[in-house]
Parts: sequence; C-alpha cells; structure tokens
Amino acid sequence: MEQTFVMVKPDGVRKQLIGDIVSRFERRGYTLRDAKVMTIPRDLAEEHYGEHRDKPFFGDLVQFITSGQVFAMVWEGENVVENARTMMGPTNPKEAAPGSIRGDYATDVGENIIHGSDSPESAEREIALFF
Ligand code: UDP
Repeated sequence: MEQTFVMVKPDGVRKQLIGDIVSRFERRGYTLRDAKVMTIPRDLAEEHYGEHRDKPFFGDLVQFITSGQVFAMVWEGENVVENARTMMGPTNPKEAAPGSIRGDYATDVGENIIHGSDSPESAEREIALFF
C-alpha cells in the first residue's frame, strides 16, 4: 500500500494545528503508520531540502524548518501521495483555495504550515531520512 511523508512545520505546531491536520487525514480514510514530535537538526534539514540547495531561499528555509518542533508522520492508503498534496494546496498559500490546509491557515510561501512528499520516490527517501 502506498505511503507518504507528511510534516507539520514549526509554524503549524506553533499555531496548534497538529490535531486538525491529523484529523483531516483520518477523515479522508488514511492510516497513520508512524509519527513523532522532533526538532530537525541542521544537517537533516539540509539533506531533506537538498534539491533546493542552490535556490536563493535555501538559507531561510533551513533556518525556518529548524526554528522549532515539527510533527513528522507516515500516512498510508490509496493514492496518498497525490491526495495529500491536494489536501495541502499549492506551495504558495496565496494560490491555495479555502478548504485546503494552506488555503485555510497560511499566507506566506516561506511559512506554509505543512510538507508532503511530491512523488512516491520522494516519499520513500523522506520516510527513510526521518524514521
Ligand atoms: N519555498 C520558499 N520560497 C519559494 C519556494 C519555496 O520559501 O519561492 C519553501 C516553501 O516553504 C516550500 C519549500 O520551500 O514548502 C519547498 O519547496 P517545494 O517547491 O518543494 O514546495 P512544496 O513541495 O513544499 O510544496
């Protein structure tokens, strides 16, 4: 069965959104297979976001994702990688429709509440990195 890696980012944890986000995935019918609260070490943050190493926002991104606790999760179910991305909404919350997680809770591309793997291959890589 397909699995994906989802993470409530430090802004989502600070806004007390863990319960809401877990609930959305449960109500959708997905199964939580693993989860933990953690503070991401700098080297793990740089590895996780390695594809963005040369982007201008990389420094701010690593600074932000290590700025507080996150809630890392493994969710399982049919088409969960793609459906989690739909539930999250687009990377830039300005484009996110109400009803999506980013559309309901975020306004800033740099602080957009949640991460979800963008492909089954990314999911496998990210689950191995975090669990
Ligand atoms: N990001 C940013 N500025 C940008 C693009 C991305 O700060 O112009 C951040 C944003 O937090 C995003 C993360 O970098 O969630 C990873 O970017 P990606 O394109 O992988 O988006 P995602 O898969 O998270 O939607």
